Formats: sequence, C-alpha cells, structure tokens
Amino acid sequence: MAYEPEAAIIGATMSETTHYRICPLCEACCGLDIRVSDGRVVGIKGAASDVFSRGYICPKGYALKDLHEDPDRLRTPLVRRDGVLVEASWDEAFAEIERRLLPLIEAHGRDAVALSIGNPAAHKMGLLLYFPRLAKAIGTRNIFSASTLDQMPKQLSAGLMFGHWLSIPLPDIDHADFLMILGANPMASNGSLWTVPDYRGRAKALRARGGRIVVIDPRRTETAEAADAHHFIRPGSDVFLLAAMVNTLFSEDLVRPGRLQAWLEGTDEVRAAVAPFTPEAAAPRCGIPADTIRGLARELAAARAGCLYGRIGTCTQSFGTAASWLIDVLNALTGHLDQTGGAMWPKAAAFARNTEGKPGIGGGITTGRHASRVSGAPEVYGELPITLMAEEMETPGRGQVRALISVACNPVLSSPGGPRLATALDGLDFMVSVDIYVNETTRHADVILPGASPLEDGHYDVAFPQLSMRNHARYSPPVLPRAKGALPEWQILQKLAGIASGRGAQADPLQLDDERVSADVQRLAGARAEAVLAEVSRCWQGPERLLDLSLRSGPYGDGFGTRPDGLNLGKVAAAPGGIDLGPLQPRLPELLRTPSGRIELAPAPLLAELARAAQGLGAPVPDMVVIGRREVRTNNSWMHNLPTLAKGPERCTLLLHPLDAARHGVANGQRITITGPQGSVVAPVVIDDAMMPGVASLPHGWGHDLPGARLNLAAERPGANLNVLLDDRLRDPLSGNAVLSGVPVTLSAAA
Ligand code: SF4
Repeated sequence: MAYEPEAAIIGATMSETTHYRICPLCEACCGLDIRVSDGRVVGIKGAASDVFSRGYICPKGYALKDLHEDPDRLRTPLVRRDGVLVEASWDEAFAEIERRLLPLIEAHGRDAVALSIGNPAAHKMGLLLYFPRLAKAIGTRNIFSASTLDQMPKQLSAGLMFGHWLSIPLPDIDHADFLMILGANPMASNGSLWTVPDYRGRAKALRARGGRIVVIDPRRTETAEAADAHHFIRPGSDVFLLAAMVNTLFSEDLVRPGRLQAWLEGTDEVRAAVAPFTPEAAAPRCGIPADTIRGLARELAAARAGCLYGRIGTCTQSFGTAASWLIDVLNALTGHLDQTGGAMWPKAAAFARNTEGKPGIGGGITTGRHASRVSGAPEVYGELPITLMAEEMETPGRGQVRALISVACNPVLSSPGGPRLATALDGLDFMVSVDIYVNETTRHADVILPGASPLEDGHYDVAFPQLSMRNHARYSPPVLPRAKGALPEWQILQKLAGIASGRGAQADPLQLDDERVSADVQRLAGARAEAVLAEVSRCWQGPERLLDLSLRSGPYGDGFGTRPDGLNLGKVAAAPGGIDLGPLQPRLPELLRTPSGRIELAPAPLLAELARAAQGLGAPVPDMVVIGRREVRTNNSWMHNLPTLAKGPERCTLLLHPLDAARHGVANGQRITITGPQGSVVAPVVIDDAMMPGVASLPHGWGHDLPGARLNLAAERPGANLNVLLDDRLRDPLSGNAVLSGVPVTLSAAA
C-alpha cells in the first residue's frame, strides 16, 4: 500500500500529529506514541492505548528519533570504486552486483556465496519475510545468522521436544505466584524469547500478590536485586545444576506432571540419565551448595502457579541445548508446563507455523541434513554456526566461500573470532551488505544497500507474538513518508533474489513479488485463489500483503470471508494500540508437532549430551572466567551511535568482585588487560560485589575503533570488544551456538 499519512495519525493539533509505532529496538515490542511536527519527530512516549505494553517505554525507545536523524545512517547506496566506498544510484549498485555476483556463481557454484543475517532483521518485516526468498534464490548451504550467537539451543530443544522450533514455552507472569530465573536479566532486557514489556511492573505485581521470584546468576543483576532470593552460579555450569534438580525431583518423589502425564514420553529415560547428577556431585561444578540445589527443586515443585525460565546464559555455553532442554523437563515434571501461571505457549495471529498442519502431530524436526565443509558441523534449521564463517572463507578447495551477502549484521564485533573474520572478509572476491551503517563488518563490502529508517516503514512483529506473554495483533503504519530515493528493504531483497535467479538487475521487484505471492495464495485459498489475490492486492503490497494473507488464514483470521468476525490487516490497522487476543491458554495436545504426538522428554541427542556432561562432573573449575552483560541502554552492537543512549557514564567496563580486584591489584577506574584464548583487550574496572568471585563481566558489541567504519559518535568511546577474547572454536555441538559465557581469562593491571 502506498504511504497514507492519515493512516498513521492517531491524534492531531494545529501544529503536531501523533502516530502509533511499535518500537523495533528490542524484543519487548512496546507501542509508542510519536509526535511529529513539520516532518520532524518532536516527542516519543509509551502508547497508553497499546493493548500489550500499556504505555511502557524504556530509555532506548526515545532513541528512535536519534536513529532516524543519525547523520551516519546511510541514505544512498555505496559502491567501492578504486578501493573507496562512494555514493551511487540504485541502478548502478544493482548493476554492479549483477556484474560481479553472477560470474562468481557460474564459476564456483552457489555455495561460494554465503549469507548472514543479524538481530535487527527480526524487527523489520521486510527483511524477515523476504530473506528466505533471497536464500532460496542464491541456493547456498552457507547460511549464517546471529541465532548461533544467541538462542539456537532453545530453538533446537523446543523442536526436539515439541516438534517445532518456535514452540518455546514462556512464563505466564501475570498469573504466576512463583518465578525462578536462570541466566537472564529481564529487568534490563524486558525479556528474551519472552516478550514482556515492563517486566519490572509485572514482577512487582507478582510479588505484591504474595508471589516469589528467585534468580540464579553469576551476577546479582538488576533482576536479582528486585527478587526475593539470589544465588550465584558458576558460568557455564547450568546443565549440572538443572540435572541435579531433576535428580532431586526423582529421589524425593516430587515428580507430579498432573494432566501432562498423558503426553509425556521418556520419563524413565530421564530418571536414568540424571542419576549421576546428585546435588553433592553437581555442587562443586556449579558453585551452589547441595542443600540449596535440593531447596530450589523443592521450591519449584511446590509452586502453585509458576515456572523456571532460563535464557542467554543458559544458551551460550558448551551444554546450551542440554540446559535449555532440562528447563522444560523441570517444568514438565513439576506440572508447570502448559498450566496457567506456568510456562505456556502463545498462539500468534500470523506467521505461526505451530498452528499449521494437523493439530497434535507432525513431522518433528531434522538436523544435520548437510554439514559445514571444513569442520563438519551439522546444519540446524538450515543454518551453520556463524563462528565457522571465517574458516569457510579462508580454506581453499571446492565449495570455498568467495562472496558474502550480509543483511543487518555486524559479526566482526558480535561473534567470537571477529579479527579473524575481518581478515577473511578482506580476502573475499565480492561482498554486498544490506545495512543502514558502514560498521565494522560492512566496511569490508563492495556494495552497501541502505534500508529505510524504521519510521518510514509499516510494522508488524513477525516473530515476537510467538513469544509474547499475552496474545495480541498490532500493526503500525509508517510514521513518516519514505525519504526521496529510498527503496523499501523488501524490494532490495527481492531485487537481489531476482539477480541471483537470473532475472536481471532491471527486473521489477513488484512483478517478481506478484509471481511468488500468487503461488502462496494458491496454497492458502485453493479454488478461490484468484479472487482472494485480487482482493488482498487491492489494499496491500509487499510485506503487508503477506501479513494480510497470514492473518486471514491464521487461527483468528476471517478465512478470506468464511469467518466474517475474524481478523484481517484492515481490522488490525484500524485499531491503533492493537487488538488484544487474551491471556495465554493451554495448548496441549493441539500444539504438538512431534511424530509421536507426545512431548519427547528424552530425545536421544540430549541424553547423549547429558552423558557427556556426566563425564565433566569432576572437572576443575577455572580461576577466572568472563561473562557478558545486558544493559538497558544498549542492545548488541547497533545502538552505540545514538546520542540519547551514548551519553552518561562509560558502559563498556569490566565488573570485578572486590576480592578479585584486590588479588589482581587493581583499583576502581583503573584499566585492566583481559586475556582470553584468542586475544587481549583493555577496559576500565568497576569493582562490584554484585559479581560472583572468580567471574568478570564485560558487555559485548563494543570495539568501535576499527578503521573504515563510519560510526563517528560510537568511535568517540569505542569500548573493548569482548569477542576478541573468546575462542571461535568453542560451541555447543548440537546447536552450533558459540560459547560466550564462562570462558577462562587472565587479568593484569594495564600500564
Ligand atoms: S523495552 Fe525499550 S527498546 Fe524495547 S521495545 Fe520497549 S521501548 Fe523499545
């Protein structure tokens, strides 16, 4: 649909208009009211009308204005000429891509082109919905994403247990009276794989109604400070704690799955697998006394309505998938899975694959359909571990990666082995980036194609309603007209797909889109396809058209007229603040898509992982390890150039317990050299008894001091790159996720 200014306006005075916009800056997806005067943003606040976020906003939300106005944000394509990135027209940029990419594919095959996609794409409808088309058109096996730096273990354990990678249970916090949080800091993040705007308010309400929150983390985080109890845990040892808790449930006869019993498969296998993990055996590894481990298991078992939630710390370790799995095992065995107030599944209005097909049964998941060329790592959901991208570029031979198309990602900063990857990128024959910045990764590109400002795009969260603590459908139209000469991201990706599939740089992306959509409509509407396509296309195009189709054929949809009260995009768009679809409801057994139609409590690969963990029960504990940290004003590497967020105290600091500071002879504010398996960085120290002794914390996403990047504000206080330290060879073998937590380091006072 063309931009219609009146569609976005929810209020107006003589001099200003107010527009509803869903915030694209983190997983919380808050609704914002954005005031515009004379084409400029003059105010941003939480949208009280939003049915989901209810007026909440965090400091990052205000920075949308900065992002829109950032002078470093690219507005024009760049093409490398004589070694320098210079402005070019869209036609010139696409012609350059066609000129260089096609011969390369012709000569070396499709696997010679790698694709990588980053976290911001999850917040852009056009990127998320059209990236699969690009991947299909390129036809490469070398697909990498930020998922293997983050949540792939949870996606994999959910797929193995429940049959779909997006069937991830999450806390029904508004109806809970107990919450146990492991390796997560929702007070700073407002949830991850758990969309929960205003976690602070909801946690406060939980406690006000007599509930209790327990946090287990190597740092006494903001979440822990506001909880009833906090326990330190050694980074990377979650699998030992969790297996010992399961062991306690069995040994103390606390297994009470209740109504879940009818669908549980493999309880006896789990009992046998956790037998070696007595609390006494696990205690030295995780740094939690055996009695405390038992107490945690008892408390979870005794909770009326509650659950265990684990996140980034539980994923970014060598046993990430096993830890992610045991969290759901604990919730299942205590009867908290699919229970009001426990760990529940949303039912999203659109794009929810776990509502498709036959309810209660499915094909399950398969991994390892191919493997990476050099290390032999198995694909998971079509992706290879992102830490293997450099070796695939460096290692000669058939199938060597010679070109990269990166989409909204910055792995030189966000992935272990960043310096090695930077060198590998320099060795490529060709690189294209779809990105709004010349950052530490895209500075290596030959062509950069800039996406639009979020304020110039319509938005519906494709992924996050599938992870939300309440069901809803919300759409926000563009706040501002698209800048002159800008191209929507979906058209950029569609053009690239057209080039890769031989349709030429001049092919019309709208026509290419029409061709593809008519095939989709045929599948959805059968005999009525032609009429449905005509009707949908009259109102919408691009991502909005895909959204309308998905809403209408989804679980709340109007069935293209067969259920007149149901949803379509017109109805959702006409409700600024969105449509509330109610609290989470039990979904078993309908949600299951496993071949058995049951909850697979003991998948063979996870039992094998537990056997591997058992061998490490007595392993020595490193003297000092490093972990990352999430802060309210930053999210990965892409918000450090925004004045609203960059101001204030230095944030890239090393937190250190007073005992560790004393034994390393460093004082507050002093600079310290941190040396890991692959390198050293220097950062200022903040002495903080919130840290577990033997654990240091440095946030990731920093290191904006590399030549060629054009992030001028970020470069003023570049910070240290945590990923320079980490070992790009360490990963969770099942999911391919990088190990980011608990990596051994040495510390020494810097000169
Ligand atoms: S928590 Fe902040 S950054 Fe995240 S969606 Fe809400 S306002 Fe935006």
